[in-house]
Amino acid sequence: MTPITRDQFDDVMVPNYAPGKIIPVRGAGSHVWDQAGREYVDFAGGIAVNVLGHAHPALVKALTTQGQALWHLSNVMTNEPAVALAKKLTELTFADKVFFCSSGAEANEAALKLARRHAFVNFGQDKHEIISTLGSFHGRTLFTVSVGGQAKYKEGFEPTPGGISHVPYNDLEALRAQISARTAAVILEPIQGEGGVTPATQAYLEGARQLCDEHNALLIFDEVQTGVGRTGQMYAYQQYGVRPDIMSSAKALGGGFPIGAMLCTDAVAPSLAFGTHGSTYGGNPLACAVSLAVLNELTKPGVLASVTLKAERFRAGLAAIDEHYGLFHEVRGMGLLIGIELMPDWHGKAKDIVGAALEEGLMMLVAGPNVLRFAPSLIIPDADIDKGLARLKKAIGNVTGR
Ligand SMILES: *Cc1c(COP(=O)(O)O)cnc(C)c1O
Repeated sequence: MTPITRDQFDDVMVPNYAPGKIIPVRGAGSHVWDQAGREYVDFAGGIAVNVLGHAHPALVKALTTQGQALWHLSNVMTNEPAVALAKKLTELTFADKVFFCSSGAEANEAALKLARRHAFVNFGQDKHEIISTLGSFHGRTLFTVSVGGQAKYKEGFEPTPGGISHVPYNDLEALRAQISARTAAVILEPIQGEGGVTPATQAYLEGARQLCDEHNALLIFDEVQTGVGRTGQMYAYQQYGVRPDIMSSAKALGGGFPIGAMLCTDAVAPSLAFGTHGSTYGGNPLACAVSLAVLNELTKPGVLASVTLKAERFRAGLAAIDEHYGLFHEVRGMGLLIGIELMPDWHGKAKDIVGAALEEGLMMLVAGPNVLRFAPSLIIPDADIDKGLARLKKAIGNVTGR
């Protein structure tokens, strides 16, 4: 086989991505190595996916054990890992019932379809409207880009599905003005991830819950990015004490193996009756076995509690860096989903800092043009946090020339 190079990407791949120059080939814990053997600290976690870092022994074991037993059947049969995982998810959350799929967009697609169908079955066709928020991100299928609050992801794909409106995030009065008897569901991220790592206020989520109850509308939380331990609780809604009717989960749910889930209460589950929805891969035994191992690891004593401590270490380190450079306008987020909004004169330059960080051996993310983002492994060793932050400091020094 001829060696694979980054240049070949452009020859054979659709140009919807523009990957960096390096090609990673191996990962262990919070470290990644590229083709040249160069080592990187990983603060990106595959965009909030690799919640236990790379090649975690318990996940490798679950994958290989299940891989030797049974990979796939289809939903004409059920399987042991799928039922065990659903059981675990219902024990860990508000949910009574679970639907499995393979990604976040599909989990939201299922959530939105269930909400529409629930309204249709119980209240009739007129109750079909979906209210979402500006700046939100819910995936890249046609329905989920239509519900998402970022116009750029819809451009050129019109006509998009109708009956969808968008209101400013964290603005309860705007939601109150928009919601009506025609509203089937309100969909919210407890923390807007792609939109800039913006947490909802307590009053906003509580108010949204109350408004939904008053109008017989369902409250959907998109926890694709915030779920599975990221905030220091299993799901972010648990931090707020506000329960949704439907919740989507993916990303970290598989720790790197593709899986998504739509979770809901017994009150709404029957509306997704036999034959109304489905997925070939959903509930695949291989995916479910790995996901179950992820949840088993995260629910071990002390693991989620340590997320808060590690987040404090990040924040202290960031404060120390900023004493030197004065580049950070605000550090926000929850647990190990950390967003750093840059000062106004650095707006638009988040990408430059991420590029410079990669040069110094640090993988990190942006969340829009003005915000740096970290979503590392939840079990990242303190020494790796310190090592990564030292590289970030050097990178900022290179970019600022100070
Ligand atoms: C990543 C993300 C999605 C989409 O997940 P995919 O697995 O890429 O389809 C949906 N919602 C939120 C909040 C996300 O962060």
